[in-house]
Order: sequence, then C-alpha cells, then structure tokens
Amino acid sequence: MKKAYRKLARQYHPDVNKAPDAEEKFKEVKEAYDVLSDEGKRETYDRYGHVDPNMGAGAGGADFGGFGDIFDMFFGGNGGRRDPNAPQRGNDLQYTMTIEFKEAVFGKETEVTIPRTETCDTCTGSGAKPGTKPETCSVCRGTGQQEVVQNTPFGRMVNRRACSNCSGTGRIIKEKCGTCHGAGKVKRQRKLNVRIPAGVDDGAQIRLSGEGEAGLRGGPSGDLYIVIRVKSHEFFEREGDDIYCEVPLTFVQAALGDEIEIPTLNEKVKLKIPAGTQTGTYFRLKGKGVPRLRGYGQGDQHVKVTLVTPTSLSEDQKDLLRQFAGITGESAQEHHNSIFERMKKAFRGD
Ligand SMILES: [Zn+2]
Ligand SMILES: [Zn+2]
Repeated sequence: MKKAYRKLARQYHPDVNKAPDAEEKFKEVKEAYDVLSDEGKRETYDRYGHVDPNMGAGAGGADFGGFGDIFDMFFGGNGGRRDPNAPQRGNDLQYTMTIEFKEAVFGKETEVTIPRTETCDTCTGSGAKPGTKPETCSVCRGTGQQEVVQNTPFGRMVNRRACSNCSGTGRIIKEKCGTCHGAGKVKRQRKLNVRIPAGVDDGAQIRLSGEGEAGLRGGPSGDLYIVIRVKSHEFFEREGDDIYCEVPLTFVQAALGDEIEIPTLNEKVKLKIPAGTQTGTYFRLKGKGVPRLRGYGQGDQHVKVTLVTPTSLSEDQKDLLRQFAGITGESAQEHHNSIFERMKKAFRGD
C-alpha cells in the first residue's frame, strides 16, 4: 500500500504535475493514505463504510462520498456486504436484575418487563399491508445494491452502493402495513417469567433462548441474557457456596464456655462455645451454606467469634475484676513470660 501511495503522490505532486486539478488530487490521495495508516480511522470505515440493509437510505457510502471509493480501490471493494434477502438473526438483549441476598440463595420466580422489537403480527414481518406483497425492486433487481461509476484520482471506478430506490432492502412496499408502517417489526413491552435458580451468585447470567429481538425475513430471534446482581447482606457474607459471619463473645462466655444462638440462612441454630475459646476462632456449621447451583448439597456457614472488651463497668464489676487479677496475677504473669521468652528465642534464632 505504501508503494502505491508513493507512486500516486509522486504522480500528483504539484511540483511535478502541472494539471489544474493535480493539487486537489494530491491532497485526496494523502488524506486517504493517512486514514488507511491509522487503525482507529480504518475501523470507523469498516463499521460504517459498508452497506447495512437495516440502516436505510444513505448509510455509509453517502457520508464518505468519493472517499470510500479510494478505500475500495486499496482493498478491492465490496467487502462485508450482505445479501439483503437472506434471513437475519435478531439481536441478543441484555437485562440487569438486582436481587436480595436471600433471593439468590433460595432462588425465586419473578416477572420482568423487557422492551424489545417483535415481528409485526399484522403483516407477519413482511411490512406490506395484509393481502399485498412486497415487490422486488426494479432498479437493483432485488440485490439492494447499485453500481455507481465515478472518476477518482485512480481513474474510472465502478462502485457498489446501497440502492437508493429501495434503501438497500431489495424490495419495494407499495402499500405499507398500518401497524408497523413497513418495518415488519414493532416495539413492545414484553412480560416474561424468569426462574432464578437457588444458589445463583453475583454476576451470573441466565440465558432465555429466543427471547431477544425478532429476526428479519424469517431469521430466528436473538437470545435474552439476564445478568444477576446480588445485594449485600448486613450480617452474612458469601464466598462461593459458603457463608461467613461474625458474632461477638464476652470475656466470660469465652473463658467459661457457653451455648449461643446463631442466625443461619434458614433458621437460628445453637452453637456450643467451649471454655477457653480465643478471639478470632472459626466454628463451622456444616451444610448451613448456599445450595450448590450445580450438584447436590449445600456449602457451610463459618462463624468467627470476636471477644468484646467491656467498656462501661460498674464499680462492683471493676472490684471483681481486680480480685480476679489478684488471684490469677502470678499465673498470668508466668504465661506472659513464657511467650516473651519464646519470642526472644525466635529473634535470636536458636
Ligand atoms: Zn406490519
Ligand atoms: Zn433497489
């Protein structure tokens, strides 16, 4: 391509070529080359520069004018064009649904309203008034494309464009359907039942096959994807099929042991706290987690206990604690010393 550009640039350079339109042609060639060398601009052309039968009149070609022809010259032209009469699959749709934490755990049946295009019932998608039929366009003979001859800096070129008579559809509708005004499809608010399976997690997608946009000319409908967003819970946290929660323990409960009530997803259960439990200890409630989306059974619930230091003690309570410290002082100090010794050893490395 660079070679082709250099050759043309030389040919039309105003210093060399004294023809009256040489300067303009030189500019045109340079502009074309700049766009072709720039990936971003090139992509824009790929996307909009071809004829899309759904976009109606003037799509692509008209906006780019003669410019597109130069591209066609470089790239052989006629790339990416579709047969306007071929069945076309409808677009997929996406819908985001936010659900509660427990709805994700247990699943639910719900109704959503999706705005989408559907095949017009009145004309069954033809766009023509019932009893009539769309006719094949006489200008393009149904191809949706028209040949245009143009003079470019590269010489005479034959180019194909969307047929202006039928806007690239290949068909002419003489009497339009009163419901869809010839489009063959209509916008509707469609109510759909959605079953959210138990155990679904944040970010999951549920595919409803064939519930997307209607296809064209007998093509199948697209699919509808429902993206699940799960709200957080004030007490529970979820990791896969397991549930995590944190419960406070008093010093007395931790030291003497206790039986406490723990909320789970379904109900409250009793948890035995053994005497001498340390803060940060995890207890596992087997099978109290989230139902597994694939397979059987449920995850677990993990309960982390955290010791809470009392902050507003009465004088009596303080006295008792002082007594307690008095009795246990020596042994507590011994315990402390042994830890201290071990740390010193660890740092010395022996
Ligand atoms: Zn219709
Ligand atoms: Zn036509």
